[in-house]
Amino acid sequence: MLKFKCKSCGYIEYIPKKVVDSLDSLLGRPNFPPTFSCENCHSGSMYPINYKSPKGIVYKYDD
Ligand SMILES: [Zn+2]
Repeated sequence: MLKFKCKSCGYIEYIPKKVVDSLDSLLGRPNFPPTFSCENCHSGSMYPINYKSPKGIVYKYDD
């Protein structure tokens, strides 16, 4: 599981890596990690804390 954090409210959620991997391959944007809409505040986006994509790109959470 990968840890995701909402940039608006700080809510933490765990998302299965295979879900994130498939989303990453669908989006395919090298400088932008896969994100999910926040289920807590419904307005923010959730970013991975530390995620290495199948393409080898490492995304780290950045305040
Ligand atoms: Zn939120």
